[in-house]
Amino acid sequence: MDDVLVVGAGPTGLTAAIELARRGVRVRVLDAADGPHRGSRGKGMQPRTLELLDAMGVADRLVSLGAFELAIRRHGADGTAEDVVLNRAEPDPTTPWARSLIIPQWRTEQVLRERLAEEGVEIEYGRHVTGLEQDDDGVRVALEDGGTVAASWVVGADGGSSTVRRELGIGFLGETHEEVRLLLGDVELDGLDRDHWHMWSEPGPLVGSGAMYFALCPLPATPTWQVQIAHSDPSVRSSEPVLRELIDALAPRIRVRRVETCGDWRLNVRMVDDYRVGRVLLAGDAAHVHSPAGGQGMNTGISDAVNLGWKLAAVAAGRAEESLLDTYTAERLPVAAGVLGLSGQLTRRQFWHRTPEQVRDTAGFATNYRGGPLAVADDDGPGPRPGDRAPDAPLVVDGAATDLFAERRAADWTVLAFGGPAPAPELPGTVQVLDADAIAADGVLREAYGASDGDVIVIRPDGFVWSRCAAALVSTN
Ligand SMILES: Cc1cc2nc3c(=O)[nH]c(=O)nc-3n(C[C@H](O)[C@H](O)[C@H](O)COP(=O)(O)OP(=O)(O)OC[C@H]3O[C@@H](n4cnc5c(N)ncnc54)[C@H](O)[C@@H]3O)c2cc1C
Repeated sequence: MDDVLVVGAGPTGLTAAIELARRGVRVRVLDAADGPHRGSRGKGMQPRTLELLDAMGVADRLVSLGAFELAIRRHGADGTAEDVVLNRAEPDPTTPWARSLIIPQWRTEQVLRERLAEEGVEIEYGRHVTGLEQDDDGVRVALEDGGTVAASWVVGADGGSSTVRRELGIGFLGETHEEVRLLLGDVELDGLDRDHWHMWSEPGPLVGSGAMYFALCPLPATPTWQVQIAHSDPSVRSSEPVLRELIDALAPRIRVRRVETCGDWRLNVRMVDDYRVGRVLLAGDAAHVHSPAGGQGMNTGISDAVNLGWKLAAVAAGRAEESLLDTYTAERLPVAAGVLGLSGQLTRRQFWHRTPEQVRDTAGFATNYRGGPLAVADDDGPGPRPGDRAPDAPLVVDGAATDLFAERRAADWTVLAFGGPAPAPELPGTVQVLDADAIAADGVLREAYGASDGDVIVIRPDGFVWSRCAAALVSTN
């Protein structure tokens, strides 16, 4: 029996599998599809997600294959064009990435699959899960091909129409909006510069009277563009002739050379009210679906998987009580509810009409677990508090320039001891204690953490502050 079976090899399932496998958990990943998906779907990777993926060592690879937020070129019906930059935030020593990275989802999945392969795990394609039963000892999953797979735990990352969710009997509460639709495609075309994300917003005969926009986004490190055409007619379907006709009609110089993929999307706004039943846990679109406005779905799924990964690894290895898994629902359910609200606001406005708060919220930096079941209570004070994001800072370790994010990869838990040594607390996973003053490259580390002499700050495996207290209070049992 394997420790964990992950159902679904989208970005959520792949991230969960990496987080488990790199902690020594025996993982299998099954996917119903014949092979990797080809569509560009979730092409906006938020900067906070890059930070989470950096802990797995893949952020630099993703950055090398993407581009940071292209300016939007908004075309008017009269042939005029205006450029709009939504996010002007710049990186700094505490925040290595400040804007969203444009990278097609198939490429993100490829990078994640390669990382998972380094852990010795290959995806088993063509394995469609159809049923599931569990008892106190484990879970048995039935496959369409007649086979069964047993595991101690199952992660259901099988997307919006999740079989795992249905088998658990968990409802998917919310609404379907038949009139909010997109024609989708990945195409090669001529006649447009690749330095902008081109958008047309005038409703007209091209896109139907209910249209909000028509968007062509160049996909970095590929010859292709992502097409999104908003419409409200359930009888219209995306196909090669439809995409060719609509895109070719946009402007005399624009010509489609090749249609690689086409697809249709309609708005579903739904979420579960629990992420766990016994030994089975849901993550990603299997637990929440909403509009792609604001680029949140894949990012939220990856964040679910990072939150779950270290907890399930600790429980599967017997290093933590099962109750640790209840904190997964408690921490992630409010985040999903917030994402449904945010994406709902953004769906109802033009792409470029976003408040600075909405731009900040989509970046993911506002997500925190303050007041949650794992945030060790403390008095308010300077620097990040328990449950807040743990910022980066430049370090010098063994004479070499590095940073805190890179150093954190050496252990699950990182303890920053300021102004003197601290004992290693007992925590579920590997723990490293860093002498903060000895390795700080400059004053940024102290300032970013609002730290004083004697402060001991514990960073969780998923990059949030666990606790902060004076050295004398650190528990070692
Ligand atoms: C046009 C568009 C644009 C988007 N833009 C963004 C964006 O910019 N940023 C963003 O964050 N998100 C975006 N999204 C959303 C994003 O694509 C999804 O949220 C993301 O794919 C969810 O990942 P997942 O791994 O949870 O599920 P999925 O990607 O759906 O993966 C589920 C996997 O499970 C497999 N599976 C399904 N059923 C079974 C079964 N019974 N047995 C075995 N395997 C099964 C499937 O084959 C699939 O591989 C966009 C979506 C669309 C449509």
